[in-house]
Amino acid sequence: MTPLALAVDIGGTKIAAGLVAPDGTLSERRRTPTPAAPAILRAVFELARPLVKRAAICGIGTAGTVDALGRIASATDLLTGWAGTDVKGAAESALALPTVVLNDCHAAGAAEARVGAARDARTALIVAIGTGIGGAVCVEGRVQAGVSGTAGSIGHLPAPTDAGVRCSCGALDHIEAHAAGPAIERAYLEATGQALPLAEIGRLGSHVITDAATLMGRVLAGAANLIDPDAIVIAGGVSMLGPALLRPMKAAYRAEALPGPSAAPLLPASLGEDAGLVGAGLEALSHLENGS
Ligand SMILES: [Zn+2]
Repeated sequence: MTPLALAVDIGGTKIAAGLVAPDGTLSERRRTPTPAAPAILRAVFELARPLVKRAAICGIGTAGTVDALGRIASATDLLTGWAGTDVKGAAESALALPTVVLNDCHAAGAAEARVGAARDARTALIVAIGTGIGGAVCVEGRVQAGVSGTAGSIGHLPAPTDAGVRCSCGALDHIEAHAAGPAIERAYLEATGQALPLAEIGRLGSHVITDAATLMGRVLAGAANLIDPDAIVIAGGVSMLGPALLRPMKAAYRAEALPGPSAAPLLPASLGEDAGLVGAGLEALSHLENGS
């Protein structure tokens, strides 16, 4: 019988669960709003428990940095109190399944690398541009998490400007502080005195989008010069701005990437909002194959 993974995706606003097959097929998808941190695990187990019997292993993707033991090393402001939680330990005792825990951007990246836009790539860089900027480096479908779980954090690469903007991590002038959705809205407000949502700024074809996209393209080129990927996948809400964002981003990328990586395609993500769930399940199933 084909083994299935019980997959869970814990985000700032919702928790999703489902069953994932080795080919990435998702079934039995269900969701619930994310409660305050002390109640998150209880909500996860309530949502997931009906699926346990059909699963061989559990994969949990979650907001926050996940250490090698499956604990939350640090979490975003969206999940106050989530840091320090032993997710793997709690899930294994509550669900009685071996459990793999990983960061949600890493999970979404794994899905794009295994069954999504980068399925034909050996080395893939996946970048999600939304309210923050996250990413994942995958080699042969597997996420490279790094020693502390931080690898792929492309939003925290430097992008110095004259403005000097503080990043969510506290440092000055990381790319997330210039090219994430809220950063583009803030730049538009500063330039025009008008507060508009991102989609509207995109429709107006404002130069603040070109500026953010150009910086993002330069940072992508730097990252690609370092890891030399076969493909780069662009995901996240900001990427929905389409050509207004992607054209200047690609131009800046090609101008700054070395000859090898400059040929790497920049592809739109193909899995949408289920990517995190599918990737958590596929990562868990790969541990089953390797007996680890
Ligand atoms: Zn930062």
